[in-house]
Amino acid sequence: MIKENLVKVKAKIADAAKRSGRKPEDVTLICVTKEAISSDILNVISLGEKNLGENRVKDALLKHRAIGDTAVWHLIGHLQTNKTKDALGMFSLIHSLDSLKLAKVIDKEAGKINKVQDVLIEVNVSREATKFGIDPNGLGAMLDEVKELKNVSVKGLMTVTPLLDAPQDNRKYFAQLRELKDKFGLKVLSMGMSQDYEDAILEGATMVRVGRAIFGKGAVHAKKN
Ligand SMILES: *Cc1c(COP(=O)(O)O)cnc(C)c1O
Repeated sequence: MIKENLVKVKAKIADAAKRSGRKPEDVTLICVTKEAISSDILNVISLGEKNLGENRVKDALLKHRAIGDTAVWHLIGHLQTNKTKDALGMFSLIHSLDSLKLAKVIDKEAGKINKVQDVLIEVNVSREATKFGIDPNGLGAMLDEVKELKNVSVKGLMTVTPLLDAPQDNRKYFAQLRELKDKFGLKVLSMGMSQDYEDAILEGATMVRVGRAIFGKGAVHAKKN
């Protein structure tokens, strides 16, 4: 089942990449494993996937222990400052930098271990009160501040769009995030989930974060409390 799902998702990614004038390999699939069991994760790794996304540091540490050093881990959920140290040891890319305060904590902890932590800034383009992320109007100021931090490197932008009955309505948000990325001369655009990753790619996504379409329909979405 996982294999069929993955083949289908990869084909859709390739098709959407081509339709957006790019190559399939220009779009990175992040397999979101937050609801997946170890054997299913090992399965996608054996099928050639290596980018895994987790919402919580603790879950990622447990899964990392279970499956070993074969994957590249992405943090896609809100990071509490007291988990920063663990996160730095674990994640290649933090997609969810959502405050200057967090950026400063990452910088300080990364400095201690001589790491430059790659991050994406999470932007709340849909301006939902329940979502983390920087308001689009505050992004320029945030980037100016974070550029001053030696041990944090901003690679691009990320957004989490609403779960909708008509997911194509999220295209306007994807387009807005791409405009912001271009305006600030950034490279990486992490947007699109199971419901709408093809639309996200058509609007320029370079990373899509897909869970349920690969691992099954049980996954729940983390909300800010
Ligand atoms: C869970 C999650 C995803 C994946 O969502 P699916 O609908 O399972 O594809 C992507 N991004 C974030 C931030 C998530 O929390």
